[in-house]
Amino acid sequence: MFDEYDMFLIGIGEEFEEKENASKAYEGLKKIIDGKNYFIVSLCMDDRIYDAGFDEGRIVTPLGGKRFKQCPDACTHDIYESSKLVCPNCGKELVFNNILQENYVEEGYLPQWEKHKKWISGTLNHKLLVLELGVSLRFPQIIRWPFERITMINEKSHMIRVNETIPQINAEISERAESVRQSSVEWATLL
Ligand SMILES: [Zn+2]
Repeated sequence: MFDEYDMFLIGIGEEFEEKENASKAYEGLKKIIDGKNYFIVSLCMDDRIYDAGFDEGRIVTPLGGKRFKQCPDACTHDIYESSKLVCPNCGKELVFNNILQENYVEEGYLPQWEKHKKWISGTLNHKLLVLELGVSLRFPQIIRWPFERITMINEKSHMIRVNETIPQINAEISERAESVRQSSVEWATLL
């Protein structure tokens, strides 16, 4: 069933965060998107997706993680390798570049976010599979709402929302969307 799509938009949520078996789920996903035109938006902060063999240029993690560091005061908006210890500008000890910081430096993910926005605008009139896996309502403006909007606008799209607790689909997109109440990690592992 996945072969009929040209493009794959994948959203990954908290159900994948720090899960031992997430790597198997990523393997499953790779089976359907390897060599295809895809983009992945992930809310996970464990960075495991970057070790799963996907094309890094097709991933955005807007909440950040532990791959990079920043100044705790954001005295500059520079992003540093995680091996670096202190801010070259103010001398403070660097912290991980993620949303848990009081002064989150968003430059860490914004270039990829822009790329993702451009990619999305290129999906119109294409056979697009929108796959939303285990996304909670904590930051609905990043995945849940835009994914619903994209599905609503693109008549050739189809959405699969897999979620253990909140798989419900809005009536406006129910013709083009299906809901699977299951652990998304488990679901992807079985692909
Ligand atoms: Zn600083």
